[in-house]
Amino acid sequence: MKLILLGAAGSGKGTLAKKITQDFGIPQISTGDLFRAIVKTESELGRKVKSLIDKGILVPDEITFEVLKDRLSQKDCKKGYILDGYPRTLAQAQLLDKLTKVDAVISVNLPFDELERRLVSRRQCAKCGDIDNVNYPGYTGKCRKCGEKLFQRDDDKPEAIKVRLEAYKKNNAPLVGFYGDKVFNVSSAGSPDETYAPVKTFLKKLEEKN
Ligand SMILES: [Zn+2]
Repeated sequence: MKLILLGAAGSGKGTLAKKITQDFGIPQISTGDLFRAIVKTESELGRKVKSLIDKGILVPDEITFEVLKDRLSQKDCKKGYILDGYPRTLAQAQLLDKLTKVDAVISVNLPFDELERRLVSRRQCAKCGDIDNVNYPGYTGKCRKCGEKLFQRDDDKPEAIKVRLEAYKKNNAPLVGFYGDKVFNVSSAGSPDETYAPVKTFLKKLEEKN
């Protein structure tokens, strides 16, 4: 099953991706993780990506696509995968479509005021990157994985959040239109398990069809 996961930052799509990964045995692929991994390889492509990220320049679509293509050709992607955070724009979706046809697109939906509320309370570990939330039970301000102090990312501050969500809205509508009846909509207003239940049912049926 080749899947795309659409959803704004704070929508809980990362948590949903992990559940799908566990139940269906397909890897979650995020371009952010791919960039971090390729930078470490010190290959030519890795150096190119690093210099862009260091300068704060958005990695161009062609380079992102090369990195992604390489990842999707690996063995663990044979059964399928979940793309998390890619494509972000219509141009990226059109590029991906030339390489492969996805089976379904899961679109995680949450009203903007709720997204804002979740994002401003988000905190991250500077050392291991783990994400936590001041509203989660047992929050102490220290990382649950490594004990480091948590901080609020600049892009999780209220003004930056508004900009991010507006950009998301602008890019997402054409994407949903592009994938048409492949899109399965789910609300993440409830708990992670409540969000996952209809998705699981949908994916089981999709798996049987294939
Ligand atoms: Zn940590």
